[in-house]
Amino acid sequence: MSDRLKITMSAEAASLISTYERFPVLFERGEGVYLYDSEGRRYLDFLSGIGVNALGHSHPAIVKALTDQAAKLIHISNLFFHQYQAEVAELLKEFSGLDRVFFCNSGTEAWEGALKLARAHALRTAAPGSKGKWRFLMMENSFHGRTFGSLSTTGQEKYRAPFEPLVPEVRFVRFNDVDDLKAKFDDSICAVGMEVIQGEGGIQPASSEFIQAARELTRQSGALLICDEIQSGLGRTGRYFAYQHFRVKPDVVTTAKPLAAGLPLGALLVTEEVAAAFRPGMHGTTFGGGPLTCAVAKAFLNELKNTPILQHTEDTGDYFVAKLKGLAKEHSCIVNVRGKGLMIAMELNSADLAKKIVLTLLERGVIINRTHETVLRFLPPYIIERQHVDQVVQELNSALTLLTTVEATAHAGKGAL
Ligand code: PLP
Repeated sequence: MSDRLKITMSAEAASLISTYERFPVLFERGEGVYLYDSEGRRYLDFLSGIGVNALGHSHPAIVKALTDQAAKLIHISNLFFHQYQAEVAELLKEFSGLDRVFFCNSGTEAWEGALKLARAHALRTAAPGSKGKWRFLMMENSFHGRTFGSLSTTGQEKYRAPFEPLVPEVRFVRFNDVDDLKAKFDDSICAVGMEVIQGEGGIQPASSEFIQAARELTRQSGALLICDEIQSGLGRTGRYFAYQHFRVKPDVVTTAKPLAAGLPLGALLVTEEVAAAFRPGMHGTTFGGGPLTCAVAKAFLNELKNTPILQHTEDTGDYFVAKLKGLAKEHSCIVNVRGKGLMIAMELNSADLAKKIVLTLLERGVIINRTHETVLRFLPPYIIERQHVDQVVQELNSALTLLTTVEATAHAGKGAL
């Protein structure tokens, strides 16, 4: 461990609120699919800042947009106009088929906006004299962020428990259980919300029947269907949005992570009818949608639109999944491989093994991540090539062989005692 890393670690330990368990690596620079640490060691990045650096590191189009705009204008507040919000909104409308956009700073803030909008829409459309619909129907095993509304609609006990009581009037449905959805849906529901592919929950895709049943129920009752595409959206699955793999169109979509290629920017995309529920003064933000973040977002979205990157993401994802399925035939500890595009999971039969695999790969210069205890999660930049997939699969193969052999030997040793 370098002295600089040791000094940084002890300085952080003395001054920061302890919310993260960081890996002992100090990164200094990135280029393409690689990151470089303070000792000049190279790492293949198969996590991209948890699904953020979709074009990799230091992409020329992003660096140019960022430096040009930083020299001109960084922030002005939402009291004034700049050229980029409308331009980025235009692209998001084209990609999503939705009609209006609100910009914010993060995923959780986009989700909060969606919840507020659902309540405002329910009140606006309520029959005279009625208090309207008010309840949210959300998914078990979901993740929507760390602020109170997002936490309250997140269906995982481990995130919620330390902060209870949370915002009331949220019902949870077993994800992909159409009968449970139908049983819990009634006239009090103002919105059904779901990730189209649950990310933190272990890369669990919604089934076509489930998302279509949610669309049908909400359409009939006048409730909203809100899709959280913060992790799955903007090209990650090989489509602009993951709901485009199904024949559904939500009323509200939230997006963030890769939107400004590493700068904090989120967005709420809605239909014309739903947008009418917000009037000036009802919602806002100081930083959201500033000229710098939006100029960079424009550059990123234009890359998505004008290059074959979406097709490349889908093809490379298919190749990666096929390779991982091949690996699963050789290692009985792999219980499942799943995913769409470059949002991929390999589930193991042991949390301890999954943890060790992440650490072993890091030591060998490959960055991956573990979610939901036993799931290895891969969210590489869209620009990876097959040779990078081959390298990761080879590293996984040797780490699995090594660790399962060590485990088997340890068990045999215990048996002999
Ligand atoms: N929703 C989903 C599906 C996410 O994956 C995340 C973050 O991982 C969030 C919401 C929260 O986003 P943020 O961390 O930008 O607040």
